[in-house]
Amino acid sequence: MAHLLVVEDDPQLRGALVRALRDRGHAVATAPSGMAGLDAAVTSGPDLVVLDLGLPDVDGAQVLRMLRAVSDVPVIVATARDDEPEMVAVLEDGADDYIVKPFGAAQLDARVKAVLRRLGATGTEEPLRVGALTVDTASREVTLDGAAVDLTPREFDLLAHLARRPGQVVSRRELLAEVWQQPLGGADKTVDVHLSWLRRKLGETAQRPRYLHTVRTVGVKLTAPDTTTPHRPAPDTTTPHPTPPDTTAADASAPDTTTPEHG
Ligand code: CA
Repeated sequence: MAHLLVVEDDPQLRGALVRALRDRGHAVATAPSGMAGLDAAVTSGPDLVVLDLGLPDVDGAQVLRMLRAVSDVPVIVATARDDEPEMVAVLEDGADDYIVKPFGAAQLDARVKAVLRRLGATGTEEPLRVGALTVDTASREVTLDGAAVDLTPREFDLLAHLARRPGQVVSRRELLAEVWQQPLGGADKTVDVHLSWLRRKLGETAQRPRYLHTVRTVGVKLTAPDTTTPHRPAPDTTTPHPTPPDTTAADASAPDTTTPEHG
């Protein structure tokens, strides 16, 4: 169950959404306008906001930008406008997903769950694994070759963002928007400096990358090291990794955490 806030001006649609989401076990609050939605999102602290774009007082995209200035709450934008440039714009403005009207309650519920799972808001996201690197977003712990890696909160968020998209090049702009909540960009050096710290803690360098690969002028990607070519260990003197990766203590800490559907 999640605490949801539905911002929707159409009373009929709002009622239908509330019933459908409550039937699926969520607690649902509503707001009929942009300003009321903004107020409720900030004061009542929902787990996720479903935000209509076509609102009578303030455009939903504007509401999203104002909300992002003060809150990281996950947002799914719901809109009748099937307009790709606009969808891209709201995603760049910090929406976590979008859904085009008309949509079924099952689809919305699935998207709500996917966003919450991805963001670890329900604490049930499985640890992300890239090669011998494990990023646990629930406990916010990172291990490399079985050894704990001590990261600052920002370094952790940066690594987790990349670990959710292994092998994909992520732009500095996206990182600034998603990790630093600076959708309008900022000093490019911010990202590079944190990447450099992260590299050092992962025992690698930009010249000899293992996991973090900078793609010139485009961005950065996280990939598992190519195990087909012998790897020369990085000259890491600060954090030894004493345990070999093939521990027999097979980790049985991944029980089936799926919870039965309500209703
Ligand atoms: Ca509307």
